[in-house]
Amino acid sequence: MAFNSTSVSPLIVGTMRLGTWGVNFTPKEVEAFVASCFELELVDFDFADIYGHYTTELLFGEVFSNSPHLRDNMRIITKCGINMVTPNRPSHRIKSYDLSAEHIKRSVEQSLQSLKTDRLDVLLLHRPDYLMHPAEVAEAFQQLKQEGKVLEFGVSNFSRSQFELLHSYTPLVTNQVEISLQHREAFDNGVLDQCIQQGVVPTAWSPLGGGELFQNNPAVKEVAETLAAKYKISSYDLLLVWLKKHPSGIIPILGTSKIERIKSAKEALRVTITTEEWYTLWQAATGEEIA
Ligand code: NAP
Repeated sequence: MAFNSTSVSPLIVGTMRLGTWGVNFTPKEVEAFVASCFELELVDFDFADIYGHYTTELLFGEVFSNSPHLRDNMRIITKCGINMVTPNRPSHRIKSYDLSAEHIKRSVEQSLQSLKTDRLDVLLLHRPDYLMHPAEVAEAFQQLKQEGKVLEFGVSNFSRSQFELLHSYTPLVTNQVEISLQHREAFDNGVLDQCIQQGVVPTAWSPLGGGELFQNNPAVKEVAETLAAKYKISSYDLLLVWLKKHPSGIIPILGTSKIERIKSAKEALRVTITTEEWYTLWQAATGEEIA
């Protein structure tokens, strides 16, 4: 199924903190977690080759080999393009980006092998590579698509012009960027405007500021708690409701490992805050009166 505003789950499940970079789930725990997400009708999962120093895809692959129905009912979004320094990749001497055709194709083979699957639903270029040539990337994408190894493509952390350049060579389905009350750049730098204009789904990483938004922004915490009490939802979920009000149709990528928090977030999406409330949170975040 094509990745677009009607087919994407209202929330994407992030896997960055599920392996060794976070709670270090066992395969059994991953299995139970995924099954519970499916019960909530959340089927879009966000990976990257580097998560867990290149081990999180392997963890899920182990689960998929025992329970193939979990893979078949899931849409896998994964990323490539960052070379991370880790004992798991001894050839990487410094952290760098590589979006050469050769690297993209090699990364896809590796992700397919790790995840024990024959296809990636969506492949994202994790970060822009200054040395990237869009024609070369487009050719690699075309080959991967023809071979049935990747169904659709997108980018992450691309500026408006970087997206525009690559999108003119090859269709992209999302730009995954950091968006929250703590990171509001996408509202002003044209990334969200572009998504509306191009009919592309914006996806938001760290929608709760990595869980530290309230710690970093006590003024936002205060307003969020008042509004959360009014709408009878949690103040963290209110941050998601705030993102969801934007007309570009932002899809937050959740970073929690706790299924009850995912359930609570999903239920909170019935709430719509008013325009004044949206700006009250904006004002609390910027610390400045609306001009
Ligand atoms: P986040 O949702 O902003 O933060 C998740 C953290 O917040 C977790 O440690 C979680 O802890 C905590 N948290 C969540 N709900 C909470 C609550 N109600 N109360 C207290 N703490 C709460 O998102 P993120 O993990 O930073 O990022 C989400 C996903 O985005 C990642 O998994 C990854 O897939 C993707 N990502 C992409 C990029 C990129 O460059 N493209 C970069 C970073 C992340 P608990 O587990 O204890 O709930």
